[in-house]
Amino acid sequence: MNKPHTSTLPKASCWHNGELVPAEQATVSVFDHGLLYGDGVFEGLRFYNTKAFKIERHLQRLRRSLKVLGITIEYSNEQLIEGVKSCIEDLGMQDGYLRILVTRGEGNLGLNPTSCPQSNVFILAAQLELASSEVVQRGLKLITSSVTRTVGTGVDSRVKSLNYLHSIMAKMESNHANADDALLLNQQGKVAECSAANIFIVRDGKLITPPCTDGALEGITRETVIELALEKGVEVCEQSLTTWDIYTADECFVTGSGARLMPIASLDGRNIEAVNGPVFQTLFDAFMSKVRS
Ligand code: PMP
Repeated sequence: MNKPHTSTLPKASCWHNGELVPAEQATVSVFDHGLLYGDGVFEGLRFYNTKAFKIERHLQRLRRSLKVLGITIEYSNEQLIEGVKSCIEDLGMQDGYLRILVTRGEGNLGLNPTSCPQSNVFILAAQLELASSEVVQRGLKLITSSVTRTVGTGVDSRVKSLNYLHSIMAKMESNHANADDALLLNQQGKVAECSAANIFIVRDGKLITPPCTDGALEGITRETVIELALEKGVEVCEQSLTTWDIYTADECFVTGSGARLMPIASLDGRNIEAVNGPVFQTLFDAFMSKVRS
């Protein structure tokens, strides 16, 4: 296992239930079911040139996650967007990362959510870099995790809940193997996604990604990349994949708000044909110019 990294807390701005507060004061009660049970949902997104990228799509996904878990919040999208703006302004940086986080709220020690009358809403703005520029340049090494995304039972992977233990356990396996990230399959052995990113391959010039019903989050970056590919005349197809498809792909990359687009160099020691290949490069450039526009 890699040594744990020591870290200092980043400079952050925080909005809690309608007000900007110093980040160290933005705390939850020990009785909050978000803390006790991971009962809550979140969104992670970036801002570029002080503008939150695809905020409406993130709020739509947040509301879908909330609906599935039956959590209500008292803030409209307009109020949340105002909160996001005030955090970005307060942080005073051009580019950065945002978290919108909802916990079930305070209740008693039993897990029944009916004891939690009032959800808690936080917005956090800070910096986030997921990988060094050297790793991004050489491409990420992936391993296939023994942890699976469950499809058809349990919490649907399209709910972005506060319980990320599957992803965290997969990440621990990739740390142990000295890899950069882990690929999760579903119980049927189909490719789902990486620990916090969607996955794409390129085969014969065609862009292929698994359907989210195979156990992936409906990634906003995924959807943006599909739109950009179609604009660039690249054929796109949603299709179930196995590790064979990745081992033999011409190109492979992952997408996420945090990760943006990152090329994959290998999976389980099988090198991908082209790292930073032509389709990846076209889409990466198109993505970066879109977020900057
Ligand atoms: N899958 C998982 C499990 C994630 O945590 C993320 C990051 N939010 C993604 C995929 C990518 O989604 P998005 O592009 O919306 O950030």
